[in-house]
Amino acid sequence: MKIARAPVWFIGHGSPLNAIEDNAFTQALKKLKSNCSNPKSILCISAHWMTEGTWITHMSNPKTIHDFYGFPETLFSIQYPAPGCPELAEQVAKKVLYQEAHLDDEMWGLDHGTWSVLRHVFPNANIPTVQLSLHMEKPPEYHFNLGKRLAALRDQGVLIIGSGNIVHNLKLLKWESNPKPYDWATEFDGWIKESILAGNVDEIINSFSKTESGRLSVPTIEHYLPLLYVLGASDENDELRFEYEEIQNGSISMRTMSFGGES
Ligand code: ZN
Repeated sequence: MKIARAPVWFIGHGSPLNAIEDNAFTQALKKLKSNCSNPKSILCISAHWMTEGTWITHMSNPKTIHDFYGFPETLFSIQYPAPGCPELAEQVAKKVLYQEAHLDDEMWGLDHGTWSVLRHVFPNANIPTVQLSLHMEKPPEYHFNLGKRLAALRDQGVLIIGSGNIVHNLKLLKWESNPKPYDWATEFDGWIKESILAGNVDEIINSFSKTESGRLSVPTIEHYLPLLYVLGASDENDELRFEYEEIQNGSISMRTMSFGGES
């Protein structure tokens, strides 16, 4: 049987609390499953695994990492026991990324950038899942180019997910209920949407920090980089769907999109 080409997703994950909340965003995540009902495995690039060098989880049973502080105890008790996929990790490290990635047997596992969203999409935690780290010493083009190489995995049924946030400014979070998004957050989030629709990927890679709205939206690059992998792994033949858009707490874009897939 021919394996369906898997889609690529960018998920704006936001607060770890989304892992245990039922809101419009998590409802949208639940619906995402119909876009990729039965992936063979998942490769997730999370904003929360920052390293020197590019690493990929190689364990058979990656641990659930609770990489946050000051949240309710229930959040720390959550486990997402999806199996790993050592064969996929080896293939990615040795062939797909041409020795660019190292195999990780003990450092990491699945952090909340991965499990806080996957527990809504695939609650049974039965799909083999690996994480790829962000090599923080490399420029944006490097991350886009790794995404391009990863695209070949889609034909094997590997669902590629980038989990970050297009606008992510924690210092300027607003804590009142239903706050109005900052104008610069709305502007930058909209600029990304329009740039993707227009196919201006070079601008997204190279020009995000040239405007005031970009500098405020991307004060640090780790939540932005997963988007570059997603843009690298997708192409113009993929049907693009904006699955969710909202700016939470004034300065966090929850924009989530799928490229290709079933529906
Ligand atoms: Zn995050």
